[in-house]
Amino acid sequence: REAEAWEARHQEAYTRDGHRVEVAANLGNTTHAADAVERGAEGIGLLRTEFLFMAHAQVPDLDTQIGEYREALDALDGRPLVARTLDVGGDKPLPYWPVPHEDNPFLGLRGIRLALTRPEVLETQLRALLMAAVGRPLRIMLPMVKDLAEFRQAKAIHDRLLAEIPETERTTDVQLGVMIEVPSAALLAPSLAAEVDFFSVGTNDLTQYTLAIDRDHPELSAQADGLHPAVLRLIEMTVAAAHAQGKWVGVCGELASDAIAVPVLVGLGVDELSVSARQVPLVKARLREFDLADARAQAELALAQATSEAVRDALEVR
Ligand code: PEP
Ligand code: MG
Repeated sequence: REAEAWEARHQEAYTRDGHRVEVAANLGNTTHAADAVERGAEGIGLLRTEFLFMAHAQVPDLDTQIGEYREALDALDGRPLVARTLDVGGDKPLPYWPVPHEDNPFLGLRGIRLALTRPEVLETQLRALLMAAVGRPLRIMLPMVKDLAEFRQAKAIHDRLLAEIPETERTTDVQLGVMIEVPSAALLAPSLAAEVDFFSVGTNDLTQYTLAIDRDHPELSAQADGLHPAVLRLIEMTVAAAHAQGKWVGVCGELASDAIAVPVLVGLGVDELSVSARQVPLVKARLREFDLADARAQAELALAQATSEAVRDALEVR
């Protein structure tokens, strides 16, 4: 099976009845983009740009950032890059950006909240992304957005840059989206969907915040299962809201490469799965194993369960 999956890695993935689902790769380091393409990735669905910032002793300047983003874009050769803006704080401190002591860092200054405390840093990053992607498709994704107010603050900077930078010096194929990883964002997906270009569900954090279980907790983290029906309902709401506005939805958390979850996510209407590069051929092969109607039935069955254990039991016996 693995050999077969590897052989077919460069082909698009369709369910047995011809429903296309894009499969992209998650990346922490732009030097690995070429490898992701070689493994069959149809794009980068999540570039965790915080690792670029962590590799420097201070905020990397505009030219340094342009150079790094260009490396990924060159390797992608016209495939889309979904770049997440700086997502530090919480479990990912940045030494040169100290945050006052917090009793609950996961509920503190992290993601877009932290970025908006120094908008000039976010502005430089957005400028670098827009300029690096001249002539190529770019999707910019904001982490940890909880509601429309945060999105609008970031979008104001983005829109000002689009007006400022001449079209010949930046990409004109750009979308601005948000991660859905805070329950409030999923609950408010209809209002967000009206203004964003896309959503990508971060199931790692969405699960953590929905179930109130630290994703790294030594004893509890095994219970932080993205197939929990509460999480699945939030994903269902997110997809319904996005599709009602003609917007697309990806999933870039761990759940996207879970063999049992793949049909459920497809059945919920997810358009793109972004997984570690190593998993790309296997996720594509998994997508080719079922029909859309069956995926929808599996999603219905999962949503009707009361616990994540019941979801896994119900889907495994099929
Ligand atoms: C997530 O939260 O699911 C996600 C993809 O982002 P990260 O794991 O980097 O927090
Ligand atoms: Mg996250």
